[in-house]
Parts: sequence; C-alpha cells; structure tokens
Amino acid sequence: ALPQVVIIGRPNVGKSTLFNRLVGKKVALVDDQPGVTRDRRFGDADLLGMKFQLVDTAGWEDEDPASLPGRMRAQTEVSLKGADVALFVIDSRADLTPLDREIARWLRGQDVPVVLAANKAEGSSGDAGIMEAYALGFGEPVALSAEHGEGLADLFTALRPLV
Ligand code: GDP
Ligand code: MG
Repeated sequence: ALPQVVIIGRPNVGKSTLFNRLVGKKVALVDDQPGVTRDRRFGDADLLGMKFQLVDTAGWEDEDPASLPGRMRAQTEVSLKGADVALFVIDSRADLTPLDREIARWLRGQDVPVVLAANKAEGSSGDAGIMEAYALGFGEPVALSAEHGEGLADLFTALRPLV
C-alpha cells in the first residue's frame, strides 16, 4: 500500500486546494462515518514523482466551539488512523488563530510525524506568518502556495524522509 499523508487544518487555509494540486484528476470521493469525519477525500498524489495516498479532511468546517475539544479529539484520531504523516496546513497570510493552536496542541499528542505547511505564501507574501509558525513547535514550516504551485520542491524535501 502507498504511504498515507493526511491534510489537517482549520477551514479556509487551502487544504482542498493543496489536495487538488497534488492529486490532480485522480480523485476518489469516499463517504465516511457521518458525524465523525465528514467528507474525507482520498486520492493518489504525485509530488514531483513521489507517490502517496493523500487524505483531505473537512470535518472541522461547522464546528461548534462549545464541543470543540471532544470533537476535535475524535476527528484527529479517526483521520490520523493509519497515517504516516500529518500535513498540518496554516494560512501564512493570517495570524495564527485559537483553532490553529488547538489543532497544533492535539497533533503534538498524536503518535505521527507532523509536517507544517504555511500556505498562501506565493511571492513570499506570507513571511510574517511563517515566522510566527515556528512557535507551533513543528520545526521549520514549509512555505508554499497550493494555488500557484510554489514551494512544492520544499514540500517534497520535508515529506521524503517520512513516506
Ligand atoms: P480548505 O477549507 O482548507 O479546504 O481551503 P480551500 O482549499 O477551500 O481554500 C480556501 C480559500 O483559499 C479559497 O478561496 C482558495 O482559493 C484560497 N487558497 C487556497 N490556496 C491558496 C494559495 O496558495 N494562495 C492564495 N492566495 N489563496 C489560496
Ligand atoms: Mg476543504
């Protein structure tokens, strides 16, 4: 089986854009357990010739803040089951949000390597956010632009030892 990379992050950071960028047209739509992880999408990704199964998660989109911790724990555990790498995506052009920090906290407690991707960094427009992202504790963030296809070589370099 292909190694599995699971894309994790709050809504609107560009997870699905990255998924589509790496999977291209070979997209499989998979119904998943309702109410636990909605709309997980699986696809065979090709990143500069490196192949892996990519999972796009959307389960945190309609999150009720009051139930956040418990729900997020369930989401994280289900999504990361069988994952070789968690690809944690943030928006490098926005300040880190409480949800970003909460996801980071949960990921630190999971037994899976984390690669941090600072998206929306086309033309180095996200420099400030990339510096802030160091503080999340996952090492050097990979600056990329899913929309413009920038930073993919750096993403390759970060993922290569883990898949
Ligand atoms: P998701 O909710 O994390 O899956 O995010 P989406 O992939 O749906 O993207 C949310 C918004 O961010 C959309 O308007 C995208 O066009 C935009 N977006 C995604 N990637 C980039 C990027 O690299 N640069 C910029 N500027 N916008 C992006
Ligand atoms: Mg999405």
